[in-house]
Amino acid sequence: MKRLINIFFNDNIKSLEAFIKTKELFEKRGFEVSETFKEEAELSICIGGDGAFLRGVHNSDFPKVPFVGINTGTLGFFQEISFDKIEKFIDDYIDGKYIVEKIRLLECTLKTNDIIFSNKCLNDFVIKSNSSEIIHLDVYIDDNHLETFAGDGLIISTPSGSTAYNMSAGGSIMYPTLRGFQLTPLAPIFSKVYRTISNSLVIPDTSTLKIVPLENQHKKISFVADGIEKDYTDVSYFEFKKSRFKLYKLVFNENWYWINMKDKFL
Ligand code: NAP
Repeated sequence: MKRLINIFFNDNIKSLEAFIKTKELFEKRGFEVSETFKEEAELSICIGGDGAFLRGVHNSDFPKVPFVGINTGTLGFFQEISFDKIEKFIDDYIDGKYIVEKIRLLECTLKTNDIIFSNKCLNDFVIKSNSSEIIHLDVYIDDNHLETFAGDGLIISTPSGSTAYNMSAGGSIMYPTLRGFQLTPLAPIFSKVYRTISNSLVIPDTSTLKIVPLENQHKKISFVADGIEKDYTDVSYFEFKKSRFKLYKLVFNENWYWINMKDKFL
C-alpha cells in the first residue's frame, strides 16, 4: 500500500504553486497525496501562513496525524519549511531527520442557559464584549475568586499561541512545550471603582480557570477560538483547562523556535 500524505493549502497563488511542487515531489518518491483529511495518512502538511495552519488543524479536528507547515503567508510562525526548502524537507522527512514535538492544547467548556459544549484551541480563546461597552467578568482559579475583571476582554492562550494575540496584548512568550497557560487582559481598567490585575498571569496546567459573566449581563458576548468568532447570550460560565489531546508537529531544526523568533519578530 502507498504511503499517504494530506496536503491542505490556502487560496493564494504561491500556496497553489507550493502544493503542485510538493505533490509532484512526494508522488515521484512513491507517496499518494490527498487534498482532504484522511485519518490513515502519516503526515498533514499545511501550506500558507499561520491562519492556514490553524484552519488545517481545526478542519481535521485535532487528529493524531502529525503536522508540518510550508510558509507562503505573511508571518508563518508555525510554518518551518520555506518554499525554496521543499526538496530538502522531503529528503529529510523520508530519512527521518526530524523530531516530533507534542504541543499542548487548551479546552473550553461554555455553558449558556440553553447549551453546553466544549471547544479546543491551538493558539487562544478570547472573551470580549460584542459592543463598545466594557465587559465585567468574575475570574476563578480552582474555585478561588481572583478578581472581577472590567475592560475590553480576556485572552486565554496556550504556550504556542503566546506569540500571537497574547504577545500583542503584552503577555509573555512561553515555549510551546511548557505546562501552563496564560490569562492576559485586554485594556483592563484599574481605578478606585475597578481593580483588576493588569499583567498577564501564567496558570499551571493542573488548574481550572472559570470565567463567569456578571449576572446582570444578558447582552451578547463574543467568544473567539483561534480567530473563529461567535456571539452568545446568557452565558453562565466559560471553563478552561488543559486538553487531553495534543497536537503533534514535526520539527526539523531543534533550534528552530529561537531562530524563527529572531527571524519573524526582530
Ligand atoms: P489574522 O487576524 O488573519 O492574523 C493574525 C496574525 O497573527 C497573522 O499575522 C498570523 O500569521 C499571526 N499568528 C497566528 N498565530 C500565530 C502564532 N501562534 N504566533 C505568532 N503569530 C501568529 O488571523 P489568523 O491568521 O486566522 O490567526 C488567528 C489568530 O490571530 C488568533 O488565534 C489570534 O491569536 C491572532 N490575533 C491577533 C491579534 C493581534 O495581535 N492584535 C488580534 C486578533 C487575532 P500569518 O500572517 O502567517 O497568518
